[in-house]
Amino acid sequence: MTSKKVAKMLNEQINAELHSAYIYWDIAKYFECKGLKGFASWYEEQAKEEISHAKKIYGYMQNEGCYIKFEQISSLKEDITDDLSAAKLALKHEKDITALINNIYAQCYKDADYRTMKFLEWFIDEQAEEEDNAREVVTLIKLAGNSKSALYLADVKMGKRKAA
Ligand code: MG
Repeated sequence: MTSKKVAKMLNEQINAELHSAYIYWDIAKYFECKGLKGFASWYEEQAKEEISHAKKIYGYMQNEGCYIKFEQISSLKEDITDDLSAAKLALKHEKDITALINNIYAQCYKDADYRTMKFLEWFIDEQAEEEDNAREVVTLIKLAGNSKSALYLADVKMGKRKAA
């Protein structure tokens, strides 16, 4: 049985994952406007993944008979102004998501909610991957520096991400 506190946190996590999708669409939009379609499609794929994360939690909560309430999804406060800050924003955001997942896991432990702990293990692994991917994009943009041809190659590479 999912503890009440954990159920509330999972509910909030649905919102956090949807907020992630919102952020990634914002980043995709920024790159699309710049003509960097590879980066744009990479972040669009990322947004899709975030929606699937929200769905996963939603499905789990439904199976557990938890109360679910959809809250308002907040948007980015500031406009994205350059490539590197866009990639850094994504990395910082993933670290924040990792912290949220860890908090839920810690609460599960306190409440002896072992089933949810097991459920969350997938997310713990996923966050390691998300942070790694986000860090890779930061590195790629840093490596490109002021070289337009390097940025073009980075864009081609980013566009090769397979659709989920
Ligand atoms: Mg996620």
